[in-house]
Parts: sequence; structure tokens; C-alpha cells
Amino acid sequence: MTLSFRTRFAPSPTGYLHLGHVASALHAQQMACGGAYHVRIEDCDQMRCRPLFSVALEEDLRWLGLWPQGAVRRQSEHKHEYHAVLAQLRERGLLYPCRCTRAEIRAASGGRYAPDGSVYYAGSCRGRCYDAAGDSVVWRLDMQRALDVVQEEPGWWEYGRGRIMGQAAAFGDVVLARRDTGVSYHLCVTHDDALLGINRVTRGMDMFAVTSVHRVLQVLMGWPEPEYAHHALIMETDGRKLSKRDGAMGVRVLRAEGWSAEAVLAHPHVRCVLGDNVRVSFGRCARD
Ligand code: GLU
Repeated sequence: MTLSFRTRFAPSPTGYLHLGHVASALHAQQMACGGAYHVRIEDCDQMRCRPLFSVALEEDLRWLGLWPQGAVRRQSEHKHEYHAVLAQLRERGLLYPCRCTRAEIRAASGGRYAPDGSVYYAGSCRGRCYDAAGDSVVWRLDMQRALDVVQEEPGWWEYGRGRIMGQAAAFGDVVLARRDTGVSYHLCVTHDDALLGINRVTRGMDMFAVTSVHRVLQVLMGWPEPEYAHHALIMETDGRKLSKRDGAMGVRVLRAEGWSAEAVLAHPHVRCVLGDNVRVSFGRCARD
């Protein structure tokens, strides 16, 4: 029996498509193993995301043959759905408002960091009562309370590796609703993966650690547990992740230089991430 999956490529339109995206989209398409491959535009952060990049993204993905046939979900059109989840979690006493500034968070952290490299939040606002919890707050998940409900640190199944142990406690009280957007990546991504029936989450290794947090949300909300397939990242020689600022690796630049779509898909950096066929290499690939 051949298994097929529902996978997704979920870019944020904050710049033009580069080879890292191409590898990610191709990885998602290949990891579906003949099943459904979705594209989801993660554009809730309207300060950083631009319609111009959204349009360019679609154009470039179409050119590469990586634009799916079905509907494409745009998160900015669904904020009310994320607010409904927040309301539920709030009613269950799992969220609390926080007014700490960055400087206060850093000072209270004692130099501690979460596994994703963010400053650990020491829980200064936990248990505090605000008269009017208005727009000037962020909403945090009370992680200890959440783990008490969940009863264990939920792990996940990683393609090519097997069972991975979760470490959500080490993240502390993560933000589920940001001050500026009213939502958060963790919230939107887990909600949408469940809604779209994604059963194999395909994305870069930079999201490997935060999967622990996503698993807690999935268990809390009764959403199904997907399998995960994180792929290697294309790194700059100085160790940075390839970013949208690295124009030389941009799809538009390569296209203007005369590269065909097939050649871009077979670019050594893309092959380096994906390995031969659908085998994913977990090491980091440096640009030569
Ligand atoms: N939108 C995220 C990004 O562009 C990807 C999130 C995910 O795949 O889970 O980095």
C-alpha cells in the first residue's frame, strides 16, 4: 500500500521568492507522495507582508509549476477564526494578558533562552489582574497549566527520524496573540493545519523546536496529530539562513538571467536541501 499525504508550503509574503522557498515548496510537493499539496499565504502581519510580494509569489510559483490547483488560503482573511480559538482558550483559563516591555522581559529572564533562541519569559504577569485588558496587551499561554491539562509533554513523529520528545515547558509562556496583529504564528499555523487536514507538516528545520509548542496547542484543541518532515536550510557561508534580502538567490533574478524553471528546480542549492529524490538531508547546506 502506498501512503499519500496532505502537505503544505506556507510562505509569508515579506519579500520575493528565493531558492530556500523553492526547496521548501518542492519538498512539500514531493512529501505529499501523490496526495494533496497546498499553498497557504501567511500574511497576518500586515506591517511586514505586502500585496506586491503576494502577487509575485503566486506568479513565481506558477512559473515553477508549484502553484496547486485547489484553493489557496490567505490567513489575513480568516482572523475571526483565530480569535474564536483565542476566546476558547481564554474561557478555559489558559491565557493571560501581559504588558511587559521587551526590556522588562529581558531583565526578568536571568539570561535564559527558549529552545528557539527567543528570550525566556519568566511569567511576570501570570496571576496578575488587569482592570481593562485592552489592545495594549499580548496574550500568553500559561504553559504549566496547559501541560497540566495535556498531562504530558506531547512529542511527534518526524519523517526519517521517528518519535521526537517534546520540550514545550522550556519555552515558557509563549505569546498566542501579539499586540500588533492580535494573533500569532503558533496559533494560526496549528489552526490552519488542522482545518486543511494537513497530516504531514512540511517546513524548514528553523521550525523544528517550536513543534513542541504546536503539539501542545493541538492536544489542547483536540486537533489531530500530524506527522512532521522538516527539511534542511540553505545557509550563507557566515551561517545565516538564506533570506529574502539575498537577491542573488532570488527566483526573479535567476529568471531574468535566463534560467529555465526546470533548471531552477534542479539548482544545486535546492538539490542540496532535498537530497536525491525525496530523501531529505538533515544537515545544514552551506552555499558554495
Ligand atoms: N510562514 C512561515 C515562514 O514563512 C512558515 C511557517 C510554517 O511552515 O510552519 O517562515
